[in-house]
Amino acid sequence: MSAFKLEKNGIYADLVFDTPSLDVNLLSSKVLEELNTLLDELKKDNNIKLMFIKSAKKDVFIAGADISEIKELRDEDAAYEIVRRGQMIIRKISTLPFISVAVIDGATLGGGLEFALNCDYRLATQNEKTSIGLPEVNLGVLPGFSGTQVMKNTIGTQKALELILGSKLLSGAKAEKLKLVDWCVPKGYLDFKINSLKTELLDAKLKAKIDAKKYKKTFFEKYLSNVIFHFAHKTVMQKTKGKYEAPLKVITLFKETQGMNIDEALSMEARYFAQLSITSTSKNLINLFFISEDLKKDSGVDENVETLKLNNTAVIGAGTMGAGIVWLLSKIDLNVRLKTRGYKQIADAFKVINKSYDAIMKRRRLTQREVDLKKDHITFDTEFRGFEYCDLAIEAIVENVEAKKDIYKILEDKMEDEAIIATNTSSLSITNLAKGMKNPSRFVGMHFFNPVALMPLVEVIAGEKTSLETIATIVKLAKKAKKTPIVVGDCAGFVVNRILLPYINESAKLLEEGAGVKNVDYIIEDFGMPMGPFTLADTVGLDVGFKVASVLEEAYGERMKVSTLLKSAYNDLNLLGKKGKKGFYVYEGKEQMLNSQITNLIHSHKDFSDQEIIDRTMFIMINEASRILEEGMIKNASYLDMAMVMGTGFPPFRGGILRYADSLGIEKVYSTLKKLEDNYGSRFAPSELIVSMFNDSKNFYEE
Ligand code: NAD
Repeated sequence: MSAFKLEKNGIYADLVFDTPSLDVNLLSSKVLEELNTLLDELKKDNNIKLMFIKSAKKDVFIAGADISEIKELRDEDAAYEIVRRGQMIIRKISTLPFISVAVIDGATLGGGLEFALNCDYRLATQNEKTSIGLPEVNLGVLPGFSGTQVMKNTIGTQKALELILGSKLLSGAKAEKLKLVDWCVPKGYLDFKINSLKTELLDAKLKAKIDAKKYKKTFFEKYLSNVIFHFAHKTVMQKTKGKYEAPLKVITLFKETQGMNIDEALSMEARYFAQLSITSTSKNLINLFFISEDLKKDSGVDENVETLKLNNTAVIGAGTMGAGIVWLLSKIDLNVRLKTRGYKQIADAFKVINKSYDAIMKRRRLTQREVDLKKDHITFDTEFRGFEYCDLAIEAIVENVEAKKDIYKILEDKMEDEAIIATNTSSLSITNLAKGMKNPSRFVGMHFFNPVALMPLVEVIAGEKTSLETIATIVKLAKKAKKTPIVVGDCAGFVVNRILLPYINESAKLLEEGAGVKNVDYIIEDFGMPMGPFTLADTVGLDVGFKVASVLEEAYGERMKVSTLLKSAYNDLNLLGKKGKKGFYVYEGKEQMLNSQITNLIHSHKDFSDQEIIDRTMFIMINEASRILEEGMIKNASYLDMAMVMGTGFPPFRGGILRYADSLGIEKVYSTLKKLEDNYGSRFAPSELIVSMFNDSKNFYEE
């Protein structure tokens, strides 16, 4: 079956793109070859004067190139040949002997936009699903089907760099503002506009008027492009610390292709694409992309179940997390009732909520009016009034079993039988918390990460008796809130904290042995974590960290024994981290200085090599992650890796903690753990899974 249908009507033609047996249009090699033949035929057509290129798919023009083909690229020269051919085919559109107009009514991404940019004109709609951009850098490559050059020629170097480097996706209206599309019209007006273009574009005078509105190179772009490159480079380095090659290569490409003829420039674009496409970074980023696609389709349960319709929700507790959750629920237009112990907490929560909304307005994502409407969804009370109307209550009070259970008793009395009760606990067992409940099937863990507004992960935890409907409802809710929900097992610390806390603990042990706060933070940041373990501990709060660490020690014993230093920092020195202005560091304004109270606790000094620090902190995580997998606390290695990337910022270019382990190889993983066990004790004893993988020469991923 063909991916294209050509409908001719006198001097007009419609080329309709409809990839067989897919929900979206993709530019696979096969489809490109078909396009090539079609374009060769069209080139010879003397009748057509104007052609509209449309999509038969709902809400999608062209979703891009086939990423699974990029994933398979292993050889630079072969990749170069493949991308050169794709480029040549896509470029043919710009050489057609008649006018071409891309009709963009939905997602137009990567190769899809490169295709559209090679048409003479672009007509977009205000359809809210219309998103337009070149997000290839997110996959560790760059636009390779002429995108860098045609984008630059359409909107200028500065804007093109901004969009490509930031993998920014634009609405139709924004794309029109940037001149990336020529028109943006309401969806219902599309046919009318197409009809009027049939006259306008074929009338020389009217066409000249349209062309006069296209982008023209500014003085700044002509003579001061080096300033643009300088700032682009600075922004990329601030954001990525130079860990990602693709954005840097984009800047180099833009620089080197200045003044070059288009053929040479395209050859260079293809060469750079080929070089990037075979890197481990690109492979890891593409793997993460496919995991996130899998998660989007995953309902969280294996059976088809009805989910509960949520209209009215409630949050109990107005601390850091409660306030964030209230904001999130109101943002997705759910009514939300906040129950606190007093009015001061309500006032404090509103400060957090207002701050989050202000940040959105600053980025012009919402108007004041829209924000006001969203805030109208929030009501508050110091009692449990109105809870009988709530379909869901999320508890976010202190991490204390008895206090939480007292709340559940009240909630079960007040709320309807089928209403869901969720807890945001970061470490307590859901099954235990549900003990004593009348109906534990509607009780579930919904673990958001701090800060709620920014962290994409939500761990969804089923207790022994949690019903499938309850899990599926919470997974659906998290998705509606644009989070990534991952269902995990009910063990102390769940998945992310169970892996992360031993890492912070191990860092504290390194410190006790004399490794130095700044040194450890620096080396771990250089490894690619968004911040070092001590800065992280200060950011999360030493109180929160200490409580979770203690729960883990109780659950897992010796291997999670809380370090003496962490204990003293919280128990004796009462350090809280950033919120108390003192933790491993002292915080004054924007300054972050070593806290002498901590350094005074350390009486030994030992020089550790960078590798020793990396090994101890990373292998403690690999070992725990393998146990989680072995115990079936998460569906598979992919989900675990995604949870670590989304929940801790584990460097995406490494693909996750288990991908990182696989990149070292099972022999190295096993032998390093054995060595660490000999030197530092049983907490490094390789898990049963690692031992069996070593014996069978297997990796976490079977590929
Ligand atoms: P917090 O100390 O900032 O806030 C707790 C709030 O609960 C306070 O406003 C307090 O007044 C209120 N509270 C305490 N006892 C109460 C009671 N009996 N009834 C009603 N309200 C009560 O705590 P937080 O950091 O927001 O954590 C809340 C929950 O979320 C905890 O279970 C915690 O483990 C979990 N959590 C915290 C984080 C984090 O990084 N802070 C991350 C994920 C999950």
